[in-house]
Amino acid sequence: MLIFAGVSKADWISQLVRFERNFEAARTPAIGGSAPDDNFRALNGIDFGFLTRFLRGKKSMARLRQPVVDDSLLSDLHLSELAARDFSPAIESPVLLELARFTTVERGDTFAGILTAQGLARSDINEINADVNDVFRLTKLQAGWPISFRLDATVEPGAPGRLISLHFEDSDNSTVWVERTPEGYTAHRDETVFISKLLVAEGTIESTFWVDAQALGLPYQVIKKAEQAQQCVVDFKRDISPGDSFRILFDALIDSNGKVVDAEKIHYVSFDTRKGRREVFRFVNEGRASFYDRQARRSCSSSLSLLREPLARPFRMSSPFNPKRKHPITGKIRPHRGVDFAAPRGTRILAAGDGVVIAKRTHSGGYGKHVIIRHDSTYETLYAHMSRFPKGLRVGSRVKQSDIIGYVGTTGSSTGNHLHYEIKKNGRHIDPLKSTLPRGQKLTGDKKSAFEDEQRAIIARLDQAEALASPAAAGGG
Ligand SMILES: [Zn+2]
Repeated sequence: MLIFAGVSKADWISQLVRFERNFEAARTPAIGGSAPDDNFRALNGIDFGFLTRFLRGKKSMARLRQPVVDDSLLSDLHLSELAARDFSPAIESPVLLELARFTTVERGDTFAGILTAQGLARSDINEINADVNDVFRLTKLQAGWPISFRLDATVEPGAPGRLISLHFEDSDNSTVWVERTPEGYTAHRDETVFISKLLVAEGTIESTFWVDAQALGLPYQVIKKAEQAQQCVVDFKRDISPGDSFRILFDALIDSNGKVVDAEKIHYVSFDTRKGRREVFRFVNEGRASFYDRQARRSCSSSLSLLREPLARPFRMSSPFNPKRKHPITGKIRPHRGVDFAAPRGTRILAAGDGVVIAKRTHSGGYGKHVIIRHDSTYETLYAHMSRFPKGLRVGSRVKQSDIIGYVGTTGSSTGNHLHYEIKKNGRHIDPLKSTLPRGQKLTGDKKSAFEDEQRAIIARLDQAEALASPAAAGGG
């Protein structure tokens, strides 16, 4: 779920909808000496707590020249958006000068109809329609295309809306723009050419990662990808707090206006938190790009791995997993819920994976001397017919993969020395030899070396990469 300033996306939408409804009131600047955020809240009934924090922050004024809500942030929901711009420190209360709106062409829509829906004057619609037709055949407008609008928020209540600009991308990877100039509307069509550039974005958490990353000028797509890269390493609710810092190294896609619009690749994301540095590195293993921590563990993977044959060395499989097997002693159909390995008495039996011993029992029949290990909430393994247990092993013992947990024997219902090995996944028996087993996703050997090379290269690039020009440093954007 997308978390923005501590509220859910759904909450945001309802706030935006309410904002739209209260917009008539909001766009009239409040007069008086009370704090800007109080005016704002009083006018709108909206808790803009994060705006309050922005307004109180030392560096916040320059940042607020940027839209607090990025145009792209909620655009995937095809809902109207809010752009609260130009919160100049010279003005006592926030004044909204522009309203950003976003719509999607529906089947059967005409361009004029879409403009009408935005409340524009008939004369403006005719002019815009004619201007656009000069650069783009409007009959080629297709359902599903998004159109972004910037509307003047200072028009008198009840008066027709006034367009500042609109743009949409056509199917030829170009963007059609309409902009209002002192001479009237003008339309042009630009080829959408993106260049890729290695950038590093560094920021400090003042509010939330989403808010502060946006204030830095990072678009929604980049923030989302960075969050996904870190999602199993950092708990964004619990681990991140004001004062923490983050760094993102990425191949930025930059449009013809010099604006970062997306990340082609995220190479590295780190958070410096009270609990230490949390970092992930992009690495391609077996053709698949994933994020790994400094210890070469794949992010979001299980750390558990299970052995298919938990014996000190390979032995012959004497009886396969078979839910319909005829039991060798009783002769009745009795499922064989594990696999048997014929091995000499005393052969070491190993823990199939890290876990806790939850049973160590001696039955006269059935399993005989056996051990059960719980590995995680999903997997349990059982080892039966042992001749003896190792010294010190008891219920509750923590074991690591390949620790000795017993010795091969023929106790219980058994016709000769062998290990009977079972794996239960979520309470159901699976075939130890044929089922997909969890494989610890930690890189080893040559792959680990390759990862370490890439890790060093990424760390070097962090120092070499150009810093993302922050909106404040760029003098507003
Ligand atoms: Zn068996």
